[in-house]
Amino acid sequence: MKVTSSEFIISAVRPEQYPEDGLPEVALAGRSNVGKSSLINRMINRKNLARTSSTPGKTQHLNYYRINDALYFVDFPGYGYAKVSKVQRQVWGKMIEEFLTVREPLKLVLLIIDLRHPPSKDDELMYDWLKHYDLPVCVVATKADKIPKSRWQKHIKIIKDALVMRAGDELIMFSSEAGIGKDQLWSLISRHIED
Ligand code: GDP
Repeated sequence: MKVTSSEFIISAVRPEQYPEDGLPEVALAGRSNVGKSSLINRMINRKNLARTSSTPGKTQHLNYYRINDALYFVDFPGYGYAKVSKVQRQVWGKMIEEFLTVREPLKLVLLIIDLRHPPSKDDELMYDWLKHYDLPVCVVATKADKIPKSRWQKHIKIIKDALVMRAGDELIMFSSEAGIGKDQLWSLISRHIED
């Protein structure tokens, strides 16, 4: 997909604030600092629309970006940030669960994982949760520029095994820094939002 327009719509904290125009939605989940904002910026060719290093404490905000008047990226709050209280964690869980279960325009979830490290317990829980709700998931292994290509397969296997990835789910190598995987990810997104 050639991105011709992208805009930040809203940092939603309540379901009533979610857009109502029915455009397909692609959600992005991942732990804090994994590179989610950088990935969004790279996908839409913007330097700074999604703030990199977005405030880790903001556990309640779903950030909506409209792209080409054709779809939304819905950026989930990063998880796994140590300083978040138990109560905040529960609020996060409730909001995301409600979103995943009732959000009709949701077509695909991108689970962003750092290629360098094995998935965290939170990543594993997130993947299981998404599968529990029967949602299509694409695992995006980012920061691929940090690992030599000769070792990619080894890292991919570690991620797939730890998550116990289902056969129908894809894994895409990505680097916001080097531009790896962008076209492949757009093709996959296009397929899912056309269904
Ligand atoms: P977020 O908290 O998930 O939104 O993470 P950010 O997008 O703010 O990225 C966290 C840090 O990782 C920043 O210092 C980015 O510059 C760096 N980063 C993000 N993506 C990549 C990547 O693909 N390659 C490299 N080398 N660094 C990256």
